[in-house]
Amino acid sequence: GPIVVWIRDDLRLDDNPALAHAAETGRPVVPLFVLDEESKGVRSLGGAHKWWLHHSLEGFARSLRGKGSQLTMRRGKAKEHVLDVIEAVGATALFFNRRYDPASRSVDDAIEEALSDDVSVERFSANILHDPESVETKTGGYYKVYTPFWKNVSETGFRDPIDAPRGLKQPDAFPRSDDLGDWDLLPTKPDWSGGLAEFFTPGEKAGQERLEYFCDDLLAGYHNGRERPFADETSRLSPHLRWGEISPFRAWDTANTYASRRKSIPGDAIRTFRQELVWRDFNYHLLYHFGRLETDNFNDRFDGFEWRNSKKDLQAWQRGLTGYPIVDAGMRQLWQTGWMHNRVRMIVGSFLTKDLLIDWRDGERWFWDTLVDGDIASNTAQWQWIGGAGADAQPFFRIFNPITQSEKFDPKGDYIRTFVPELKDLPSTAIHAPWEADESTLAEAGVTLGKTYPKPIVDHGEARQRALDAYDKVKG
Ligand code: FAD
Repeated sequence: GPIVVWIRDDLRLDDNPALAHAAETGRPVVPLFVLDEESKGVRSLGGAHKWWLHHSLEGFARSLRGKGSQLTMRRGKAKEHVLDVIEAVGATALFFNRRYDPASRSVDDAIEEALSDDVSVERFSANILHDPESVETKTGGYYKVYTPFWKNVSETGFRDPIDAPRGLKQPDAFPRSDDLGDWDLLPTKPDWSGGLAEFFTPGEKAGQERLEYFCDDLLAGYHNGRERPFADETSRLSPHLRWGEISPFRAWDTANTYASRRKSIPGDAIRTFRQELVWRDFNYHLLYHFGRLETDNFNDRFDGFEWRNSKKDLQAWQRGLTGYPIVDAGMRQLWQTGWMHNRVRMIVGSFLTKDLLIDWRDGERWFWDTLVDGDIASNTAQWQWIGGAGADAQPFFRIFNPITQSEKFDPKGDYIRTFVPELKDLPSTAIHAPWEADESTLAEAGVTLGKTYPKPIVDHGEARQRALDAYDKVKG
């Protein structure tokens, strides 16, 4: 009988083990996507997510048609729709690639349990390089800190990526499908997606092109360039990885192949790229083993932490109006493009949780709504980490200084000038902390603090002390 291949965050034909293995059997294949925001514990998508997903599904459905197949799209509780489609086509097997967050795992388990014995279920590993069961500490637990995790896995070899299936056999009839347009995933009033579309093209094909471009043009300098927020020197593969348009095995294999062929790509560059892909895995392992990463402090000492409740400050941060140019540039890059450079994510994260003393969960939620790569593992784990509530490698008392960070990573102020245009005429000596500049410098650049650009909403020195005092109460 036919095989239903249930597609989730793996919107690709290339290196998609569930799809490839189904195709190999020679049996009819029914690809199914369910937009599930209703099952217990499953999060609704953010605004930027929806925009991305719409375009990604469009491209994926097109690619499937090119293979003689068709994507069935449903919206609602996954269990209802998966069981319904299995029945409608008389499927005798359900194939899918594993998911790792607790809510999705329970959905997957519940479906497997509900199926009768004549429908077999096969799960594949596709979306992270190391399955959570495959990495253990010496005492049999899981790693809570990245560096020892990296040391453990840094020499592991990976399976080869699997090529896209050549064709997919059709069932007698495809099941009923929704129209993507009826899901209203695209923003309309207003349509704020222009900036996102300028910066990114969703879909497998664009992801593959970006991967090639990165390996060809950027990889050789990646280990040096990745800390420069003003330059396009990172892979920007994060949304493609988030939606599974690119498999991490393919990303690694392609980069590694380039590195082994080209002497101009130093060992440091390829190692750094691998380390970043492993960060992603590490976050998934934390989520898998710890579970409630999105709600519960990884370090439970923080359960009694006195976060400040300030809607006004939270809004100033969200809108990029804190008066700290590097923070504001980051928040506006996020709003305009759906993405933010990693260094700046750390700066704005530290600023929210330490300078403003606002709960990391508020930052996480905002990122979730605005990032195209907002990822249940990486976003929650990285917010816990930067907010100090995560593992001890980034203790709370390590507080970023937004001015020295800005001077160090955006020395000429190019990044700030791009996203905070009202400061663009300030010289680089004044752009990192305009409130310290003299009147004539500001006047020449057309800047009036408090009018054309805000005064800092907190004094970093005082805010730092306030954060340390709050931390003293929980540090035990
Ligand atoms: P590159 O430097 O080219 O790295 C290659 C790939 O490695 C990335 O695409 C990404 O998949 C992975 N990667 C790199 N750094 C990290 C990291 N620190 N953690 C996990 N994976 C990493 N990343 C997300 O994918 N989704 C998120 O929701 C997310 N939220 C974050 C929130 C905060 C507060 C912070 C500090 C970081 C967050 N990151 C998140 C990690 C990181 O900022 C992005 O993965 C990275 O900026 C993506 O850009 P890139 O693809 O050009 O990265």
